Amino acid sequence: MNKISLLFLALWANTLCLAQSPRQTFQETINEEDLRKHLTYIASDELGGRDTGSEGQKKAAEYITNHLSALGITPIVRDQMGKMSFQQKIELYKNGWKESYVVINGKKKVFFNDYFPVGMINIPVEKEIETVFVGYGIQSETSNDYLNKSVKGKAVILIENEPKNKAGKYLSSNSDNSDWIGSPGLKKKQKIAADLGADFVFVVSLADSDQFKTLNAERKAVLSRFNRLAIEKSKPESPSVTSAVPTFIISKNMAAEMLGISQKKLEEKIANPENKLKTKKSTIKIKSERGEDTIETANIMGFLEGTDKKDEVVIISAHYDHVGTDDKGRIHNGADDDGSGTCALLELAEAYSKAKAAGNGPRRSILFLWVTGEEKGLLGSKYYTDINPIIRLEKTVCDLNIDMIGRIDKKHESNQNYVYLIGSDKLSSELHSISENVNKETINFELDYEFNDPKDPNRFYYRSDHYNFAKNKIPVIFYFTGVHEDYHKPGDDVEKILFTKYSKITQLVFATSWELANRSERIIVDSNKP
Ligand SMILES: [Zn+2]
Repeated sequence: MNKISLLFLALWANTLCLAQSPRQTFQETINEEDLRKHLTYIASDELGGRDTGSEGQKKAAEYITNHLSALGITPIVRDQMGKMSFQQKIELYKNGWKESYVVINGKKKVFFNDYFPVGMINIPVEKEIETVFVGYGIQSETSNDYLNKSVKGKAVILIENEPKNKAGKYLSSNSDNSDWIGSPGLKKKQKIAADLGADFVFVVSLADSDQFKTLNAERKAVLSRFNRLAIEKSKPESPSVTSAVPTFIISKNMAAEMLGISQKKLEEKIANPENKLKTKKSTIKIKSERGEDTIETANIMGFLEGTDKKDEVVIISAHYDHVGTDDKGRIHNGADDDGSGTCALLELAEAYSKAKAAGNGPRRSILFLWVTGEEKGLLGSKYYTDINPIIRLEKTVCDLNIDMIGRIDKKHESNQNYVYLIGSDKLSSELHSISENVNKETINFELDYEFNDPKDPNRFYYRSDHYNFAKNKIPVIFYFTGVHEDYHKPGDDVEKILFTKYSKITQLVFATSWELANRSERIIVDSNKP
């Protein structure tokens, strides 16, 4: 190629640039190929579903920080050594059972396998205790399973519910009704054992081994809901907070070992409840320690300094955690939730850094904020706004939050070109009109406000990270394309992402933030809608 044609080409390229506004030029650097490249990694199995505090999430954090470094974006978190970092380290706390077991004749029984607790039982130090079998544990005017038995300071073993006699009547009352079945029956039995001074109750489950497995899994899931991650340390739990006497449900197999008989003998007793059962005394060891684990995670942020209005900051946020891998070993890759927001932010950071390098940097500063712990209750954004806002909240102009913009929902199957906007009019009417105008001038998508209605039962306004800004009267827009059949399921994969629309919505966020960062006056907070 000769020099003349090179010069001509340069002039031609220059004219092209002049035809476009800088906003358009840099908006167009956001493209499907880059988004696909980023999301293919962020939503890969290698990251294991990016559960908060997991190794996979740390890999995502590393990917984001490497990207920010390469773009020349500024780290603004001062770490403990005084060095500037992209990561705002956060310690989260989680309550749960630590060492828990029962030892019978030197054999260790497995927690949530051979037995499970009724409520949050805490036995921090191993106890050695004698057991006493008390049949069905019934004590009434007509029947007494505790006759001639001393249970004070011991562990009672009793069979659940109440059996019927040969005539089909309940055994203790010889009637058609029983007070001793189900959970009210168990409560009565627990109270009797506690009143007689028993230290523990072991309830023999009548479930067969498959049913017992299911019961274990269900109970584990229910109780783990109380083991949520939290920003603050919890108060110490008192021992066995929920029942009168610490109570465990045990399998027939475990019961037989505790009673020193074969499981067959126990089954015979259950089939013929009026028969006597000869059992051996035994001594068991038990421990069921609850405690707090610390989980280390981080918010990630990169700062792009503005020019003449650099003290005012526009935040663009997304959460980079997801729900991890489930009990069945299935990885929830969270490509849409919120891999889409995570990677949109990578592209936005790139577009702005290119603009700045070309001398078109924004007047206000931009903070790109990837928060952690969203799926655990918006913890990372709460930590940022409530505990350690790196940019003072008064200087924060707005938060544009992206959470799930890569799919379509049922309502929009015939028109992909839409996005739900939530929150845009709640605190600032200006923000709302800017958002509308920018959309018209750029991608011209349908802006769907269905979920912005305070009467909408989904209450999405309160359900992603922008809310922690909104509650501090910082105007927000939440960008969202709705829920779909793979929401919080293993099928939320990169193959199902609609990159064309995803790329356009990312461009809309860019164009909107560009206007907010470059206009002469900071947007005004003039309303407070629910
Ligand atoms: Zn999400």
